[in-house]
Amino acid sequence: MKIGIVGFQGDVEEHIEMLEKISIKRGRGIDVIRIRKRDDLDGVSGIIIPGGESTTIFKLIQEYGIYDEIRRMVKEGKVPLMGTCAGIIIASRNTNDPRVKGMDLIDIEIERNGYGRQAESFIQEIDINGIGKYTAVFIRAPVIENSGSAEIMGKVRDKPVIVREENVLGLTFHPELTDDTRIHEYFIKMIEREGSISSGASAVGVMA
Ligand code: GLN
Repeated sequence: MKIGIVGFQGDVEEHIEMLEKISIKRGRGIDVIRIRKRDDLDGVSGIIIPGGESTTIFKLIQEYGIYDEIRRMVKEGKVPLMGTCAGIIIASRNTNDPRVKGMDLIDIEIERNGYGRQAESFIQEIDINGIGKYTAVFIRAPVIENSGSAEIMGKVRDKPVIVREENVLGLTFHPELTDDTRIHEYFIKMIEREGSISSGASAVGVMA
């Protein structure tokens, strides 16, 4: 499987390292690439938008012409996407900052830097459905204000911090900054499941 990290700014290297670590653990089989242009999206079976500065990442994915293509691939349902921190802001239905237009891939409204100055960064133990107890690192995290039809998998201070809607997983924290590989492994399972469903479906699609 090939997983692409949107590779302009932010925690790109950290995601790559984590996926390579998992690949080694599994006896290889995961290729990790940086996505910076349209061709890089060819053949990827999963996409990660990392944490970083959402205004910058948003500007660059538009300038390099991959915003619409990522959106299309994920909306079609075959390619899972994981957005972490700045990445979930970009994947969201709506943001409170006119400089970042969400891709509307997951039904959430989000407030950039919503935890305010006093709590710009914090570490918190959370309980995640399907994963269990997990120590999450928040850095100038956004707040999910309205989670619409997305499934809430975990909360902090009564606000969702990890949500999923079909092939899209969004987190307001940074799994790539810890040694805990479980969230990336969960995402890999989403990709594997998609592969087993879509191989049959795409054969029908080609014939139609
Ligand atoms: N506050 C950042 C933003 O709005 C996100 C922070 C992060 O990704 N660590 O872009």
